[in-house]
Amino acid sequence: MPVPTVYSRSEHTISRSNISDSALKVLYQLKKAGFEAYLVGGCVRDLLLGREPKDFDVVTNANPDQVRRVFRNCRLVGRRFRLAHVFFGPEIVEVATFRGSAEEDSENQQTHEDGRLLRDNIYGTLEEDVWRRDFTVNSLYYNIRDFSIVDYTNGMADLRAGILRLIGEPVTRYREDPVRMLRVVRFAVKLGFTLDKACEKPLPELAGLLNGVPAARLFDEMLKLFLSGYGLQTFEMLRHYGLFAVLFPETDRCLESESEGFPRLFLVRALENSDKRITEGKSVTPYFLLSAFLWEPVQSLAEEKIVHGEDVLSAYQNAANEVLNRQIKITAIPKRITQSMREVWLLQSRLRQCTGIKPFRLLAHPRFRAAYDFLVLRAETGGADTNLAQWWTEFQTADEARQKKMTRPAASRKRSPKKFSASKAKPKNTDKQ
Ligand code: ATP
Ligand code: MG
Repeated sequence: MPVPTVYSRSEHTISRSNISDSALKVLYQLKKAGFEAYLVGGCVRDLLLGREPKDFDVVTNANPDQVRRVFRNCRLVGRRFRLAHVFFGPEIVEVATFRGSAEEDSENQQTHEDGRLLRDNIYGTLEEDVWRRDFTVNSLYYNIRDFSIVDYTNGMADLRAGILRLIGEPVTRYREDPVRMLRVVRFAVKLGFTLDKACEKPLPELAGLLNGVPAARLFDEMLKLFLSGYGLQTFEMLRHYGLFAVLFPETDRCLESESEGFPRLFLVRALENSDKRITEGKSVTPYFLLSAFLWEPVQSLAEEKIVHGEDVLSAYQNAANEVLNRQIKITAIPKRITQSMREVWLLQSRLRQCTGIKPFRLLAHPRFRAAYDFLVLRAETGGADTNLAQWWTEFQTADEARQKKMTRPAASRKRSPKKFSASKAKPKNTDKQ
């Protein structure tokens, strides 16, 4: 049995004042009930790096039913891994039981033929739990008994060196759970860490294993990847390893086929934009970014349909449906989100109507703001007429008299976006709807 390195309280920087009160309560109550209790995973890693943890995960030798008996404010969740959620107002502390090793209990563990773990409810000890975790830096345990850190995997050294290293044999670990390939990218970007060579090498070859992961889980992971404030870097890195192509095959094909950088630039700007909003503490909506991701596939398909004689509106509607139907099989995008994505796309053609009552009606549309932002982004990257985008920018803030003037047929004829576009924009940059 390997011997851990134990860092006593004076040998590390984690202070109880940086741990949330709720997490401390959970740790102390478990200890009082006679159980072992540790903080583990991202919170220990982030605290050691001087970052604010997203949440606090607790691990214990109490099994889920025993955990439930210790806390009244507690609910058991999860099928794949059974966990306890302890509630403190809006805050949830996740309490997991130590996982045991696979060989000893095949009844409670199910493996898919491709090596994926389907069910995994085998309980064990800390010594066993360590080896089930993904990266060495995610496998440090903060012990509430003496405030020490227990390190079996040399995680502390990797943390200091800024290295992401899978515990165990990388190919086996990726096969067991292909989502680890997405996690390694997410952590590399978020922490600014480098990938250990053995951990990096199999990525392109194994990327396709993500196809076997349930679409609902991939949707959740995808949100973490792109909506954590480092979307652009994450996108670049996922592309580099061939992982993006598995998540968004149609988008990836469009990116490959374009030579002049136009669609690529659009996605890049959309990601930059949402990263900036997150950094500024503003809200970001998944549907906006997802509509940007799938816009190019929708647009190319719609154009094909138009060439074959479909009218513009139904071409876009059908293209949107087809692209979304294929995408939700990979990442299960919930209906409320796909509905908003459709609206953003279909509003792009309605935004070309700048006369009469229509622009006023559009202003009141619940998705107007998103559709307008989308148009601006397209215009900035050469995919739509900049004059049209400017017209809408002005129209929104103009007073009533000015708005009426702007929407008069004569005025708009003079400033018709159609008139500006063709000659000023590059050929493929003209507004395509
Ligand atoms: P974040 O800051 O994103 O919360 P995290 O490391 O805490 O990062 P979680 O998804 O909250 O990530 O998982 C908590 C811990 O559980 C991880 O640190 C790791 O030890 C373990 N873990 C999570 N997912 C996996 C996985 N797919 N395979 C192995 N271990 C995992
Ligand atoms: Mg976490």
